Amino acid sequence: MSGPVTATATRPGGVDLKVRSVVRTFGSGAAAVRALRGTSFDVAAGELAALQGRSGSGKSTLLNIIGGLDQPDSGTVQIGGTEVTSLRRDDRSRLRRETVAFVFQSYALIPILTALENVAVPMRLIGTDPAQRDERAMLLLRMVGLGDHAHQRAHELSGGQQQRVAIARALANRPRLLIADEPTGQLDSENARQIMELMRALSDTEGVTVLVATHDPAVIASADRVLRISDGVVTPVDRAAEAGQPSAAGIPPATAAPPSAPEPPAEPVAQAPEPEPEAPAPPARPAAPESPQDPYSAWRRPPEEPPHGG
Ligand code: ADP
Ligand code: MG
Repeated sequence: MSGPVTATATRPGGVDLKVRSVVRTFGSGAAAVRALRGTSFDVAAGELAALQGRSGSGKSTLLNIIGGLDQPDSGTVQIGGTEVTSLRRDDRSRLRRETVAFVFQSYALIPILTALENVAVPMRLIGTDPAQRDERAMLLLRMVGLGDHAHQRAHELSGGQQQRVAIARALANRPRLLIADEPTGQLDSENARQIMELMRALSDTEGVTVLVATHDPAVIASADRVLRISDGVVTPVDRAAEAGQPSAAGIPPATAAPPSAPEPPAEPVAQAPEPEPEAPAPPARPAAPESPQDPYSAWRRPPEEPPHGG
């Protein structure tokens, strides 16, 4: 196999996230559902934040607004200093292609495409060179432990495997914020553990900011920050204080340069039907990838970048 893909690995790591006074109401009058009631919180660049809350508490509504899939009635969301809530539609689309990536509970792969083709979709949208695209797609699949399944169609894979493909796809364009909406909700505990280890590694090794809605106690325990949402209001939990440690310093300044790629065609919505309930998975295939010394080399950037912008 060829060396790690580094030619396009030039972006800095994660971005910080600031949510301010976000309100979202569905419907009106007596039937109105106040899904978000003016909620505010921060996530620092490179953190893995767990969003915890009961069903119906507003998690998906919040994540969709942060990711630019929905608009708030009022309030703002800033990602790396860019106020996404006031972006024009095409700029929001670009944000979704290049800065923010989503992982859904239902995987949302294109079932008839192979694992490799699914991972390549976001790179097609930004016009990545085909050879580089396929090489990177393969590296990402190896990274999530699916190198041997690259040419299998998505619908032939188990739920855990499909979710790993979805994560590989989410990473294709090197997002700086990864949003995951109950990504392990349909998985058994072993597959859930593998998915979470992947996300943890992205935060740890690459500084990608990860915001994950979850009920999973293991995820919550391993998060850098826990955000509890109840009745449409987020309450950050100061875990450092709970553990009796000094609180983390402030959020590093955002130094993101705006992306300047040429405008690609409008993105298709990769909508897959709800997958079948998980087929009996083959014996747990370790997420450990084929390259023993550097499992995340497909993702890792070259080291020359300074940790702080000027
Ligand atoms: P969670 O993801 O925490 O389960 P959601 O954000 O999906 O919660 O939903 C929050 C509240 O908003 C719920 O009462 C839900 O029924 C309502 N809701 C979400 N989306 C819509 C919608 N498109 N239309 C009407 N109500 C909605
Ligand atoms: Mg939800």
